[in-house]
Amino acid sequence: MATEFPTATILGYPRIGRRRELKRAVESYWAGRSTAEELTSAFTALRHATFDRLAELGYDRSNSSIPENSSLYDQVLDVTWQLGAIPQRFSGKSELDLYFALARGDQDVPPLEMTKWFDTNYHYLVPEIGPDTPISFANDHLVQRFVEAKNAGTLTRPVVVGPVTYLALAKAADDAPEGFEPLDRIDDVVAAYRELVSAFGAAGATWVQFDEPALVSDNLSVSRIDLAEIAGRVWPLLAALEDRPSLLLALPYGDGRMALPAIAGSGVEAIQLDLVRGSAPVPGEVNLSKVRLVAGLIDGRNIWRADLAAARDALIELEQLGAAGISVATTNSLQHVPHDTADEKWGDTELNANLHDWLAFADQKVAETAVLARGLSHGWDSVAADIAQASTALAARAIAPGVRREDVRTRTAALTEADRTRIPFTEREPIQAQKLGLPILPTTTIGSFPQTPEIRNARAALNRGEIDEAGYTERIRGEVAKVIKLQEDLDIDVLVHGEPERNDMVQYFAEQFDGFAATRNGWVQSYGSRCTRPSIQWGDVARPAPMTVEWTSYAQSLTGRPVKGMLTGPVTILAWSFPRIDIPLGESADQIALALRDEVADLEAAGTSIIQVDEPALRELLPLDADRQADYLDWSVGSFRAATAGVRPDTQIHTHLCYSEFGQIIDAIAGLDADVTSIEAARSKMEVLPELAANGFFRGVGPGVWDIHSPRVPSTAELVELIQAAAQSVPANHLWVNPDCGLKTRAYPETNATLANLVEATKIVRAEL
Ligand code: GLN
Ligand code: ZN
Repeated sequence: MATEFPTATILGYPRIGRRRELKRAVESYWAGRSTAEELTSAFTALRHATFDRLAELGYDRSNSSIPENSSLYDQVLDVTWQLGAIPQRFSGKSELDLYFALARGDQDVPPLEMTKWFDTNYHYLVPEIGPDTPISFANDHLVQRFVEAKNAGTLTRPVVVGPVTYLALAKAADDAPEGFEPLDRIDDVVAAYRELVSAFGAAGATWVQFDEPALVSDNLSVSRIDLAEIAGRVWPLLAALEDRPSLLLALPYGDGRMALPAIAGSGVEAIQLDLVRGSAPVPGEVNLSKVRLVAGLIDGRNIWRADLAAARDALIELEQLGAAGISVATTNSLQHVPHDTADEKWGDTELNANLHDWLAFADQKVAETAVLARGLSHGWDSVAADIAQASTALAARAIAPGVRREDVRTRTAALTEADRTRIPFTEREPIQAQKLGLPILPTTTIGSFPQTPEIRNARAALNRGEIDEAGYTERIRGEVAKVIKLQEDLDIDVLVHGEPERNDMVQYFAEQFDGFAATRNGWVQSYGSRCTRPSIQWGDVARPAPMTVEWTSYAQSLTGRPVKGMLTGPVTILAWSFPRIDIPLGESADQIALALRDEVADLEAAGTSIIQVDEPALRELLPLDADRQADYLDWSVGSFRAATAGVRPDTQIHTHLCYSEFGQIIDAIAGLDADVTSIEAARSKMEVLPELAANGFFRGVGPGVWDIHSPRVPSTAELVELIQAAAQSVPANHLWVNPDCGLKTRAYPETNATLANLVEATKIVRAEL
């Protein structure tokens, strides 16, 4: 049966399109500007563009080296769809309407919850599984996709989230009985996957890839040991099928070594390991004689050119393991990196030449896998020149100007514990209360207001040189004035300037720091049609000049109410950029923290009494490996404190976190020592708050009452209920009322309507206190 696994592959390719074609296609469909047929044909064209590109880069169209990891929205949603595991509230909808209602909700139903995919900035849609959730081989859309590609000349390798991971990432449906775990349904899911595998086989697939990253994570509700045991039980059931395609079980994002004994004998033909984040087994540790080892050596999480000499050495070692074969691959799907460095130009400077030499986006990484594969099959001499070139580039980077700056290193080395410490919260609190004079249950927002077409046009006009810096500033000031007036009219207590000058909350700072470079086309998918353009941290970080003071001061000059200064924290700047990997992340975090500390001091000196430092990525970067978490929490919390602890006691520090699974980091959140923390809570109906209270969290909390991921407008009554629920766990004098997150992706109609309801609801609850 088995056709040999290709010597080189990637676990997945960027899905959004070089020029974000998929984003345009789905958004135009959502807006009613195009039909379902038009959407489907744009999607098909994009998939074929991917196949063509991979073929151009040297992958064979006929040996399953080209993965089919496309999705209209999300790969986890695709499995929910495949299984027909649709929660009751969506009944009556079908086809694309149903698919996108699950993803985005509509006026009648809230969508599935969204949360981060492992330790990445990609968000997946959380399946809701109960004892009665339908689970079957519900449709053949994934198989049809394969057939369509095959008929058009590319024998792809379909990529599907594996059964264990699918359920490990699910949450129990709201009406599920106490004690029910989605993994209780594993047998049903496996039965459906068996049909899926058989259908792929019948359609002519030679290899199918199942991603099982749950097996490398200590951050899920089921322990890694239990997950490995479940995998060890169910994978043989899939492998036992007759007339099936060969199976690649992939373990991206972390260390798969612990899971290996459970699955190595399962009968799957190939297993992929992430050998950048994880480690390889030693000879004799596990019997691999029946499986091909697919070595994830090209890092799919960053954009640095690979150290090919090190990868070669690793491959030579792996050959000692006695595996049935060795292939080379990326550590994970390349959905987390941009397409091609050829789409970039960093001016006519030395930096441009340097970055082109130092970087590898998806296409360059494909080429790197191909070089290593050639070395594997034709001997290392055949690729000696490529390997030497990579080594030369790495050596040149180490000594290039700006990569190491003594002024920056001296400052981080001098940081003390005192620099990271404020006087106790209980002493600051009354001082701040007196200075700010806010009502009980103060209302605020998280920072950004809708990014309107006018704002985007102004930015585009500036980039095209149609207006000058002064003209641009004028337009943005107009926007700030509008947002301030709106918030006053809505009677919000703590205002924001709305962030219209920011293309992105990280890039805006990265563009002003030394040591960072932005990209023009380096888009990566964040969720659905949302993309971000991570900046590249290539050198030591410093702040040449104040970054936000003018905007905040201007906004403050327009109103008597306090305007919050708005900064992005060090961990989030690193998490949503491509950080350098030649120094520890903690060192980079302190460099950024000190640059922010100067900004905080300048804001305070300019009269800003509340400063918010967003750290929505704090949980996201938590290592999947339990052993590495304490060290991470130590440096990440320390960097936040270095950024914020320089202020006076009467300056109120806020932070914002975009999530609510606090479990493992609850102490770290307290450790930030922010005066007020706003968190996501609307989708989970404030469930998170009792947990916070039980853990003795005693500072200010702003649980989000509006889920800003969808345009749905919650009613005043609904908001009253949420605020009342919050007041059950948080003392009223510590409770703030705000949306879940920034409003930049929302439009004004729902923003105005919801904020009006939010203020009204707050007043109703206040009156009852
Ligand atoms: N201040 C940012 C905003 O409102 C926070 C966004 C975020 O947490 N993702 O846009
Ligand atoms: Zn947020």
